[in-house]
Amino acid sequence: MNNNSATYLIAGCGVSGRAAARLAARLGLRFSLLDEHDTADLRAFAGSLPYPPENIFYGFTPQSSLPQFDVLILSPGFRETNPVRSVLEQHAARITGELEFALEHCGKSYAAVTGTNGKTTTTELSSVLFCAAGLRAKACGNNGYAMSDAAIDCLDDRLDFPVVEVSSFQLETMRIPTPAAAAFLNLASDHIDRHGTMEAYAAAKFKLLANPGTSRVINANLTGIVPRFLPDHPGFQTFSGAQSADFHFTGGILMYQDRPIVAASELKLQGEHNIENALAALALLAAVQGAEAVFLPAVLNALKNFTSGEHRLEHFLTVNGIRFINDSKATNPHAVNAALKALGGSHRTILLLGGLDKDMDFKELLPCSEYIKQAFLFGTCAPRIRAAIEKVIPCTDCASFADAAAAAIQAAVPGDTVALSPATASMDMFRNYRDRGNQFKELCRKLTAASEDGQSALS
Ligand code: ADP
Repeated sequence: MNNNSATYLIAGCGVSGRAAARLAARLGLRFSLLDEHDTADLRAFAGSLPYPPENIFYGFTPQSSLPQFDVLILSPGFRETNPVRSVLEQHAARITGELEFALEHCGKSYAAVTGTNGKTTTTELSSVLFCAAGLRAKACGNNGYAMSDAAIDCLDDRLDFPVVEVSSFQLETMRIPTPAAAAFLNLASDHIDRHGTMEAYAAAKFKLLANPGTSRVINANLTGIVPRFLPDHPGFQTFSGAQSADFHFTGGILMYQDRPIVAASELKLQGEHNIENALAALALLAAVQGAEAVFLPAVLNALKNFTSGEHRLEHFLTVNGIRFINDSKATNPHAVNAALKALGGSHRTILLLGGLDKDMDFKELLPCSEYIKQAFLFGTCAPRIRAAIEKVIPCTDCASFADAAAAAIQAAVPGDTVALSPATASMDMFRNYRDRGNQFKELCRKLTAASEDGQSALS
């Protein structure tokens, strides 16, 4: 039994809730589990914990009774409109989330990354660089390795330095976090449905840099707005393409001040956005291990060999001189623009755009219209996208995702690129962005195979 006598309620036993339960059990805390469902799988999970919950509330409804708890660890699955959520909130002195709970109990210092785009790529690259510099580091948070499991690995001395991806949703409800170092990558229109305004979205993200003891790394493009959100904390290292930044990209070389680090041509990562991610990861490493760590041969080698994951600018097929790109993880216009610039070519990209809206400003796509040949629209926010861009970009509405893929392939000629870079969330038509990307790849392979047999598209 832990000498912490506080009582915890872990509400929502999905992926993160179960990880929190494993950590609570590892710590010997007084915890209970709650879920709206009652399944054999959930019962088997609860039975498998090495230290048992005090109570388990299966199949919980707003009418069920509930004692008071000191801390509620609330799953993001409980939307604000869910009536169970307000009942839960009335039964706890403090409300937290799985990430904050795990960070408070991991007993190690950590680095953290936030931003509208590039979090996963930069978190993973940073952890690879930290490892190359000799730390036992690992990326966690949103990549299938929950921070609670990372905390168990820290407590059991398998891990020294978690590198954590942190979203605006998590930051919104957290107390001020205390990472050893934190990077703020970029800020663009996204999640306005949830935060209400860009100002509120930015304020949530800046919370990651609010602890005065944190070494801060920030995109030089954002320094103008820092005083608005962090008036008392002026010190930070900057990165960007601009030469005035501490970590910058000049003449094709990634640089630290006036010292060359590596040529972009030596990296497997593609696109200027990924160079920014690399600069941010190097700046984080310098913030934790000192600037010389950036020049270690093992670090440079790791940087050169790093590739971003599936569904991010993934070139999966070339047929008849037409390149096919799966960028399903591009869930806002800013990410689409990064893809368009990286793919290049004046009016050579045929784009599949559409999906579930987050009240984003699709006019943000217009500065990159020169790269787009045509847009094929699908999903629930197709009309909003059309209204924002149709005066500049030729748009065609498609009845289904499969129709959009077929029409895009039909419109392509050798030298063109067909890209799924949808600018939206996927959950109106797909399980998640991975499902969307996988379906796109399958459709393209099928449709182009048919054409190679001389039957349809591309002929
Ligand atoms: P996140 O975890 O923030 O969603 P990812 O690394 O998974 O970020 O990338 C998400 C999408 O954003 C991909 O389409 C990727 O090509 C694009 N992207 C990655 N880094 C950046 C960046 N620095 N600026 C703009 N877009 C980016």
